[in-house]
Amino acid sequence: MMFTNQQKILRLNSAGYPVSWVSYETAARLYYTNQVSYECGSSSMLLRGGYNRLTQLKSKLKVNSIIATHDINKSDFSSFTPSLSNTTLFKRDANNCLYCGEFFNYKDLSRDHVIPLSHGGLDVWTNVVTSCKRCNNQKGGRTPEKANMMLLAIPFAPSRVEYLILRGRKILADQMEFLISHISDKSPIFKRYTKT
Ligand SMILES: [Zn+2]
Repeated sequence: MMFTNQQKILRLNSAGYPVSWVSYETAARLYYTNQVSYECGSSSMLLRGGYNRLTQLKSKLKVNSIIATHDINKSDFSSFTPSLSNTTLFKRDANNCLYCGEFFNYKDLSRDHVIPLSHGGLDVWTNVVTSCKRCNNQKGGRTPEKANMMLLAIPFAPSRVEYLILRGRKILADQMEFLISHISDKSPIFKRYTKT
């Protein structure tokens, strides 16, 4: 299996639940400091010239694509509020405008507040949708009802695992399979990635 330097390793908490992406350098550090409790990916990368601070030796290290770690921080188990950005918002909605349903490139999309901020709407996942600039202009500072524009889907806040999928770049097949197994089959993201 060929890995690029950008390849991320999926880190699980001690209970085997996905919690974060880590760089392969971080993963190597976790191995060297004996914080990896087990591996469960079906792919791995060989790091050459890894440097062991304890033995002062250069070495080779096999880094698995999915690693479970002893508990590093308490947040691994706490409730999770994913931060909101246009990149992840547009990914949540698969780059589709939730008013006209068309697919757009990033630069032609905008963040629409379903209940406008001027009406007391909040800048939160459950009140924002991906909208093309044309639809956003047409809607203006109105609610969908007032603008007579129907929403094609209900905005939702991604779970921690859904967020890992949305934030992931170049997710390996075994990592994706693992992540998908941890989200609801009712999730639009589940449907998107399990479509045959
Ligand atoms: Zn549109």
